[in-house]
Amino acid sequence: MINISAGDQQRIDDYVARFEQMNDAEARARHEEIIAKTEAEYAEFVRAFNEGDCYLCHHPIASFSTQRPCLHWLLKPKGFKKKHIVEVANHYDFFQLQSYLRWVANQQAFATNINDLSEEGTGGKLVELTIRYKNLEWSLSCGETDFRGHEHSQNANFPHYHLQMRLDGRPFIDFNDYHLRFSIQDIARFEAKRRLPDKIRHQFPFGWGMSDVINESTLEALINAKKENDDGGEAISFDTLIVADEGTTISGEQLYELFEKAKREKVTIASLASEIPNASVQVAVGAGPDVVEQAPRTAQNRGKKSTDS
Ligand SMILES: [Zn+2]
Ligand SMILES: [Zn+2]
Repeated sequence: MINISAGDQQRIDDYVARFEQMNDAEARARHEEIIAKTEAEYAEFVRAFNEGDCYLCHHPIASFSTQRPCLHWLLKPKGFKKKHIVEVANHYDFFQLQSYLRWVANQQAFATNINDLSEEGTGGKLVELTIRYKNLEWSLSCGETDFRGHEHSQNANFPHYHLQMRLDGRPFIDFNDYHLRFSIQDIARFEAKRRLPDKIRHQFPFGWGMSDVINESTLEALINAKKENDDGGEAISFDTLIVADEGTTISGEQLYELFEKAKREKVTIASLASEIPNASVQVAVGAGPDVVEQAPRTAQNRGKKSTDS
């Protein structure tokens, strides 16, 4: 059970029911409507951002006033203290907050500043990702018990998430400093996805991260893509495992030729690996060295962990 009032539960049930009743055409129309609306909002965001202004409060990004809680506070204007994060979370939905950070991150580099790959996380969480912009890094985390509300807690028995913020690689806000409240709209969106997994996907248009770049539908294209340049950054890493069939061996010469050919033709080794006879090939595609690392929220952040299990 999620620890919310019966009235809120009803609102959430109604919200999910509306999706459930939608046919494909209606769902598509709604999707297109959201994309168009988001596109307009994003254009507004970029225009203001490039001028150093905030498109939400219409004040400079470097400005701070306790009178005007705003998402741009996350960019650490002078005067912003960590306790102020609670005000930000109370004024903005979690999805809005995440979307904002994703947009900011993509102003510096496409997708590589957003590590939302589930295989890089600690696993089993509703939310787990790290977002970076220049010297700022934010990590968002929500596990099952956070989402329901910590049952026996006095100050965290409501649906919430945790946020870590680093400045120049140093801690500024720790995961366990605050329990940031989800709005009812947030909870409804999580519930819709949970109850209608085939119908609902959470997307962040223009806030695309590594999970949009690397996923089942992109794998083949990634492996077969030509490399644009050898130097410079790498957003994607390929680990290719070539195993000789039993009773056969692969010569060093064969491997050398494979590497040379990949270099010459500017293709991945993975795309050529099947040319080696009598061998099986496994390719693991993951985030490359350019991608921000996920900052895990682990038990060590909560002080000493008991060893009983
Ligand atoms: Zn603002
Ligand atoms: Zn919690």
